[in-house]
Amino acid sequence: MAERRIPVSAPDLSGNEAAYVQECLASTWISSKGDFLERFEQRFAEFCGARFAIACNNGTSALHLALLALGVGAGDEVIVPTLTYVASANAVRYCNATPRFVDSLPGTWNLDPADVARKIGPRTKAIMPVHLFGAPAALGPLGGLAAEHGLALVEDAAEAHGALHQGRMVGPLGNVGTFSFYGNKIVTTGEGGMVVTNDPALCDALRLYKGQGQDPDRAYRFPVVGFNYRMTNVQAAIGLAQMETVEAKLAARARVAARYRSRLEGRLTLQATSPGDVNANWMVVALLPGGGEAERDGVAALLAGDGVETRPVFYPLHSQPPYLPHEPDPGGYPVAVDVAARGLCLPTWGGLADGDVDYVCERLLAAVERVIR
Ligand SMILES: *Cc1c(COP(=O)(O)O)cnc(C)c1O
Repeated sequence: MAERRIPVSAPDLSGNEAAYVQECLASTWISSKGDFLERFEQRFAEFCGARFAIACNNGTSALHLALLALGVGAGDEVIVPTLTYVASANAVRYCNATPRFVDSLPGTWNLDPADVARKIGPRTKAIMPVHLFGAPAALGPLGGLAAEHGLALVEDAAEAHGALHQGRMVGPLGNVGTFSFYGNKIVTTGEGGMVVTNDPALCDALRLYKGQGQDPDRAYRFPVVGFNYRMTNVQAAIGLAQMETVEAKLAARARVAARYRSRLEGRLTLQATSPGDVNANWMVVALLPGGGEAERDGVAALLAGDGVETRPVFYPLHSQPPYLPHEPDPGGYPVAVDVAARGLCLPTWGGLADGDVDYVCERLLAAVERVIR
C-alpha cells in the first residue's frame, strides 16, 4: 500500500462556506429565494465582466437554458467538439436539435475552426466552443465564422472559471456562456451552474425558462414550457464564499500547473495554451509518448498503486452510443481520437504541495518507462 493518497481533485471549503450556510439555516431561507442568490450572481457577473449572471442548478441545465434562450429547436444543428464532457452534446439533444461534431486542434485540443467551417450548413444555428480543461478555445476565428454565417456563439466555460482570452475573461465573449459548479470544478457549490450574457433579452429568456416559464409579472401564468432549474440560497451561500477566494484558488492552480510543466517538459507533451491566453488550469493533462488506450490505462493502474488518482481524457462523443450512428464524416476526428487515447488527467487542485506534484511526476515518468518504452 502506497503511503501517499493523492486524489485527482479536492474542493477548498476553508473560507466562509460554513458560516454562510449556517446563516441560511438560521434565517430559514434555504430554498430558491434569498440574499445569497443575488449576491452570488452579482459577484460572478463582476468577476467575469458580464452584464448579467443567472444562477441555476447545474452546468448542464445552464447549457440547456442558453440554447433555449437562443431559440435552438427541432431541426437545428449546433456545432460541438467531439472531445468534451457529454453534457455539451446532451444539452443540444434536450432541445431536439442535433450536435454536429468537430475535431480538435493539435496543441490546445479545442474546436478546430477549419473543421467548424467545413461543417456549417443551412441548419446550423450555433457554435459551442468548450474551453477544455481550462484552456481558452480559439474565439477569434470562431467568432468570425459565427458573425459571417449569422450564428450564435455559446461558450461552455464549465471548466474555465477565470481563464483569459486575449486579456478578457471567458464566458461573456460570445452571445451567452455557461459555467458549472460541480464538486470538482474550479469554483463549486456542490451542484450548480451559471449562465452569463451581456444581452438583456437573453437574460429575460434565461430567467423565464429557469423558473418554470412563469411570467415574471403575473404569477401562475406560463407563456412557455419552462423548467425548474433553480439554484438554492444554500448553494449560492457556498458559491459566494468560494468567489471571495477565487483569485487565490486560481493562483494556487497556476503554481501547481507550472510545477508540473517544469518537471515534465521535454519528457511528456502537455496541453498547450494559445499565445496571449491564460489557462484556468482545471486539469493538467499529459499526453503519453506512445501506445494507445491500453497503455494509458496501464500507466493509470500503476499510478493508482502508488496512491495517485488520475482520469482518462473524455472519450470522443461521436463514438458514444447515444450519438451513433452519426453523419458519416470522411475526415474523421484524428486529433480528438489520439488525445483521448493517450491523454491522462493528473491531480490538479490548489492544495497540492510542490512535493506532491514532484511525487506524481516521478511516479508517472517511472510508469511510462515501464509500460511504453
Ligand atoms: C462539468 C461540465 C459540464 C456540466 O456541468 P454539471 O454541473 O456537471 O452539469 C458541462 N460541460 C463541461 C465541458 C463540463 O466539464
